[in-house]
Amino acid sequence: MFRRNNRGSREQDDKTRGKKMEDCSVREKAMRINLSRSKQLFEIAKTFTPGGVHSNVRWMEPHPMYFSRGLGAKIWDVDGNEYLDCLGNYGAIVLGHGDPDVIQAIKQQLDQGLTAGVESELSIDVARMMTQMIPCCEMVRFSNSGTEAVMHAIHIARGYTQKERILKAEGNYHGWYDYVYCSNRYPYKDWPLPKPYPSSQGLCADVVSKTLVVPWNDLEKMEEVINRYKDEIAAVIIEPVSHNIGCALPKKGYLEGVRELTVKNNILLIFDEVITGFRPAPGGAQEFFRVTPDLATFGKAIANGFPLSAVAGKRKVMDIINPALNKVSYGGTYNGHQAVIAAASAALEKLKTGDVQKHLNRLTKKLVNGFNEICARRGAQARMQGIGGKCQVYFTSEEVVDWRTASGVDQTMYKKFRDGLLERGILWPYSCFSHPSITAAHTDQDIDRILATSEEVLTKIAKD
Ligand code: PMP
Repeated sequence: MFRRNNRGSREQDDKTRGKKMEDCSVREKAMRINLSRSKQLFEIAKTFTPGGVHSNVRWMEPHPMYFSRGLGAKIWDVDGNEYLDCLGNYGAIVLGHGDPDVIQAIKQQLDQGLTAGVESELSIDVARMMTQMIPCCEMVRFSNSGTEAVMHAIHIARGYTQKERILKAEGNYHGWYDYVYCSNRYPYKDWPLPKPYPSSQGLCADVVSKTLVVPWNDLEKMEEVINRYKDEIAAVIIEPVSHNIGCALPKKGYLEGVRELTVKNNILLIFDEVITGFRPAPGGAQEFFRVTPDLATFGKAIANGFPLSAVAGKRKVMDIINPALNKVSYGGTYNGHQAVIAAASAALEKLKTGDVQKHLNRLTKKLVNGFNEICARRGAQARMQGIGGKCQVYFTSEEVVDWRTASGVDQTMYKKFRDGLLERGILWPYSCFSHPSITAAHTDQDIDRILATSEEVLTKIAKD
């Protein structure tokens, strides 16, 4: 039974629950958790915005949840329920909610009165810090979202190589740009590759058809396609860890092999580090796995939840956007917005030492090992995979290595597990292909709690 609220008042909790429980959906009643205010807000929100949400991934059955505040590793919904937050703004808050140094830096910057559309010394400092942290980063340009950074990286690659096609991997997600919004999650296990599968209506079919798709973690297939199309491919773009199917790790030699293939065939390699950036190591997955791409995109953790993204890369490649050359265009009113640059400055100051990453890797290992030990002991057909404060639970007996293995997991079991955690005060991503977060604000006690609660939920599921 759910017991907490943000005022720490049991009485209030009981009162609210008692009064409004009859309004709750079947799922909520079964979970004995009061989400009645979220439900009310959904009824209002959906009259103003489609589905009551401003990003489709926030939608959930029977209605989205609405939140009121966050602090450290905790988040509170509008019904006053307190959760241990393992959603972590989809990975954006690597330091936890409301990190005091980040908030202080933003407040100070706001007092200066500068916002968007201008350059400042602070932007130079943050750019310099990134070149010191990230192996491929000889130069960097800011933008606002992961989608934008990916779009710019692709323009840069095309301008630099004078080739057009992009090769991406199945199950990898790179944002909403039409050229890469294909073949991430889709229902056809036997879809013929390298044909792209559009992930939405509204995309231009001619645009999508330019993209080539291979399975992630499969060097042979990539080599086959590269051999066939090498004169047309400007760049290979991949997530170095496949987080948009949860957490699939690269096989030994995979990233090195992709690097070799791209160098050999005069193709640029883009690592999309929007999730992996700053997490397993200060220099992201490229530092952790010791494979340096030509270009990399960053977002999310870079400003601890504030909207900043970046394209980083080798000087000779990045120089194609030098305005003096008048080659590849790259602009944006809000690029390097001074408030988010201040947030990034404070966040990177903490992320550059490596201490945060040690904490994330240690807690992730403890969680993954603990969870898998529970499953082995209980004979449960489930596993956890994780790295750098990112992980996911899969209800399957085989290792998840790509989209095709991920798509075979038991999604009904995942829903029961996720709802069981929610009922017990742990917010875990709605989709089994999303990526739960551990932040610098999570503690050993939090991991112990997730493990104990997971075992309780697995026991309940087995009984039911
Ligand atoms: N690349 C990756 C790997 C992502 O996970 C995401 C978002 N989850 C994006 C790009 C797009 O980022 P944004 O939502 O900031 O546009």
